[in-house]
Amino acid sequence: MSTAADHADQILDDWLLDPSLAPAAGDEVLAPLYDAAQRGEVMLPFCAACAKPLELEQDICDGCGGGDRSWRAVAPHGTVHAATLMHRREPGLVHARGPYPIVDVELDSGHRLVMTTARPTDTAPRIGTAVHIAFRRLGDVVIPAIDTLEEDA
Ligand SMILES: [Zn+2]
Repeated sequence: MSTAADHADQILDDWLLDPSLAPAAGDEVLAPLYDAAQRGEVMLPFCAACAKPLELEQDICDGCGGGDRSWRAVAPHGTVHAATLMHRREPGLVHARGPYPIVDVELDSGHRLVMTTARPTDTAPRIGTAVHIAFRRLGDVVIPAIDTLEEDA
């Protein structure tokens, strides 16, 4: 298991969006995710009763009906579940001059997270590609982003 310190260099200033588009770091629901990302960790919610992975904003567990969430650090690895290229020209807000990827990553923990890449690219990864999660810094907020693609063996 790698430590958070190993990941501190994986927080890159964002290449894609203007900082004015940053989410609120103090967001009541997502604060644990953002706090952990500042430390270079991916933290996600699980059902406190049965440990099933929950969606970011899911309150009630599909598995047992429990209503308590417990946030835990998860491994920063997953696979590409779905991917698309966004074509959006919005001078001043979107820095990319070409299309940029939006990727639905299924983490090894079972969670799904939608993210873009930590480094500039104008292509979308193939479905099933293994990915390592790093982070992008947008204004005061750090959010997960795909770092490296690990070609599946
Ligand atoms: Zn449950």
